[in-house]
Parts: sequence; C-alpha cells; structure tokens
Amino acid sequence: MSVKRAVDLNEISDGSLYGANDMVRADCGGCTGCSACCRGMGSSVILDPLDIYRLCTGLKCDFDMLLAGHLELNVVDAVILPNLKMTGPKESCSFLSPSGRCGIHAYRPGICRLFPLGRYYENGTLRYFLQVHECKKENRAKIKVRKWLDMPDLKRYEKFVTDWHYFLNDAEAAVAQEPDPEIRKGISLYLLQNFYRRPYGPIRPEQYVGEKDFYEQFDRRLAEARENLTIQPETTC
Ligand code: SF4
Ligand code: SF4
Repeated sequence: MSVKRAVDLNEISDGSLYGANDMVRADCGGCTGCSACCRGMGSSVILDPLDIYRLCTGLKCDFDMLLAGHLELNVVDAVILPNLKMTGPKESCSFLSPSGRCGIHAYRPGICRLFPLGRYYENGTLRYFLQVHECKKENRAKIKVRKWLDMPDLKRYEKFVTDWHYFLNDAEAAVAQEPDPEIRKGISLYLLQNFYRRPYGPIRPEQYVGEKDFYEQFDRRLAEARENLTIQPETTC
C-alpha cells in the first residue's frame, strides 16, 4: 500500500513512521499456513516498472505475455497501470501455488515484499508504516525494515520508488487537466509503452549488471517522459 493522499495514519497504522534501519513488528515468520494477502486483493497489487522488469527477467517473457495470463490493466487516477490479476473461485493471485506458497518468491513485486508495511511519502522522502488491520498473523516478530524488504541496493531502490511515485502524481495531474479525451488516452498509452511494454534490455549484454541496467534506463526514460509531456516535477505532496 502506498499512501498518496492525506489519510489519518492513526486509523490504519500503529502511529509510527519507520526508516530502513528501524525495527518494526512485520515479520510473519514465513507466513506458515497463511496466504490471505495473496487472495481477494482485487486490483490493488499495482506493479511498477521494476516489478515488470524483474518478472520478465525471472520468467523469461515479455510484458504482453504477462498480460495474457498473470496481469491485467486498470485505470488508476486517470492513468492505465498493470496489477496482479486475481482469478478462480478463491480470487487468488495466479502465482500462488496449490500449497499456498508464492511461486515467484525471488522476484515477487514490491508491494508483496512490503506487506504488511505501507509506503508513506512526504516532502520528497519515503518512509514506511505498519498496517495494523491487514495481516492475519498474530504475534508478528520485530525485524529491521531493510531485512524485511530484502531488496538489493535498497538506497537505489528507494530512490526509484520515490521518483516513480512523484512522476505518477505529476502525470496523473496532467492527464486529469487535459480536456481532450484522445490526448488523455494518448498520454496513458505512451506511459504504458515507455515504462512497461518497451523491454529494459541489458545495456551491455556481455557485462550484464542486473538492476543497475534497469535503473540507468529508467532514469533516462523518466527524463524523456517529463520532456515529452512537459511535466515538471511538483515540489512535494
Ligand atoms: S496475511 Fe500476513 S501472514 Fe498471511 S500471507 Fe499475508 S503477510 Fe503472510
Ligand atoms: S506474487 Fe506471490 S506474494 Fe505476491 S500476491 Fe502473488 S503469490 Fe502472493
């Protein structure tokens, strides 16, 4: 969960904000016997460009192949974004195995890594909060936020997540203000193509450096998109 608008944090959290090196009561102990948050999530597990890059790399497929089975597209705040598709009688994520385990654990999306934490953005920075009504597991243990997220190069990842958050805010505002429906649709499709459908191939195939390659390309695409759409960064929100 990402908090994009003003909400009363006290209603959904323990009232604290956490940084990467803070301890938080989020450790579900491997979720033994529980897969509650992999079912019935509707369209709420929204994927960012890094999620798609990691899924495509891990599953050796492209964005359209993911869309044919595991993902769907929905309009979120005026912009089209992909999310995990829930299917079947139990409305389950299609990556959930019959034994209730995540079939893509090593490259599961950022929101799945985060849960039951949420992201809180303020003044251009990112912190985390603990959602108190979401995880079904009682007696969770304390764990360092960075260990729970289990992301290589967390500092770089947090920069990416924050840049993407503020860019999406700006893009959504630009789309919402555009009176011509054809132009609105064109912007949405451009964002989908530029950040999700167009593959993030290795820049130097002989020296593939994984996510570093992704971040380099993402930064370039972000600058291009801001220029093409004449979207200037808002200060904060
Ligand atoms: S609800 Fe909590 S314990 Fe259950 S699968 Fe999700 S994170 Fe794990
Ligand atoms: S990707 Fe894995 S962790 Fe995320 S909802 Fe699907 S099965 Fe659960």
